[in-house]
Amino acid sequence: MSTAPSSTAPPRLPSRSQRSGSAKTSPVRDLLALTERPEVISFAGGLPAPELFDVEGIRAAFDAALDSPGVLQYSTSEGDPKLREEVARRYTADGLPTTASDLIITTGSQQALGLISTTLLDPGDTILVEEPCYLAALQTFALAGARVVGVPYVGDDLDLEALERLAVEHHPKFFYTVPTFQNPTGRTHDLEARRAIAAIAQRRGFRIVEDEPYRQLRYSGDALPSLAELAPDHVIGLGSFSKVIAPGLRIGWIRTTADIHSSVTIAKQAADLHTSTIDQAAAAHYLVSGRGEPALARILAAYAARRDAMLQALPSTLPDGSTWNRPDGGMFVWARLPEGMDATSSLASALTRDVAFVPGSSFFSGRPDARTLRLSFTTYSPARIREGLSRLGATWGAGR
Ligand code: PMP
Repeated sequence: MSTAPSSTAPPRLPSRSQRSGSAKTSPVRDLLALTERPEVISFAGGLPAPELFDVEGIRAAFDAALDSPGVLQYSTSEGDPKLREEVARRYTADGLPTTASDLIITTGSQQALGLISTTLLDPGDTILVEEPCYLAALQTFALAGARVVGVPYVGDDLDLEALERLAVEHHPKFFYTVPTFQNPTGRTHDLEARRAIAAIAQRRGFRIVEDEPYRQLRYSGDALPSLAELAPDHVIGLGSFSKVIAPGLRIGWIRTTADIHSSVTIAKQAADLHTSTIDQAAAAHYLVSGRGEPALARILAAYAARRDAMLQALPSTLPDGSTWNRPDGGMFVWARLPEGMDATSSLASALTRDVAFVPGSSFFSGRPDARTLRLSFTTYSPARIREGLSRLGATWGAGR
């Protein structure tokens, strides 16, 4: 057997997949590095307020969980039965009849997005998303090889005619929506829009992936029915405790339809066998402890005051001719600078004044709107929000 002469260059290593190159890096994560200096007031990250975590309650829940050594053992891929029962009980109380067997616990709802993509998408399949859309969902869909088509808004309302037209044109596998207090815009589909979205999905034969991490963060207005109530066979629901208990728990879930339940379970098994048993058991203990409700009430009161502080300061912060919305909940306000201005170049000068936000461009799957920006109001006290917005106002000459 002959061997290659030693002077020959070694063969090139195979390249990475095309899919891995198609996902954009997250500017929010990149910005976090720039804004780590304590003097920076950052409205960029969507971070829950750490001082509102119920540390004592969560500590007690972990202690109670550890009373049973089984919580350190391997477990089923669908998740802790007690936790699933508690989550199912909450859905049912919220008007959406649900049993534990409808649910699969995931490692944050971020993993749920990946599992749904693995279960439903082949490379080249088309899906529809809101335009703009949650960035890490866009990353997940890109990694699954999906063709992503954005459904535009008209003002603050989803363009329902465009949704139907694009569904007819592209035969999407699903429409991904964050119907309540969306990330990045804070927008909510009203009852009429929800009915229309459900009816279009039924008429045109596509699924809806309804991602609801912010549903419980409501500070004003009335709760709305979920899409799953309006089109039960078409909707796969995603939920999470990240925004209402703590993101570090990494507990989310999928409320599946019966036809894909076993496929999602296999995808979950292949991804990580199961979500951390101890974290799941602690979450279950926390839910039955009754400490979650008062802790959430404290979060809602604090965030409502922070949203109001931001909304009160925005008229003297943003340049004349800017527009912004007034969300009833969630974590974000979405703003648009006047004609001719660009949020990315504004960010560069904001950073020199130790204040940050996320330019809206990266949340678009198609042509970005360079005038848009996302401001998160949950991380700081009202006084610190006012201070941050006054620095931001100085970026644009005190708003004038
Ligand atoms: N969906 C949306 C719309 C989000 O904003 C987030 C977190 N920012 C997630 C899913 C993921 O949340 P987690 O994995 O912490 O549950």
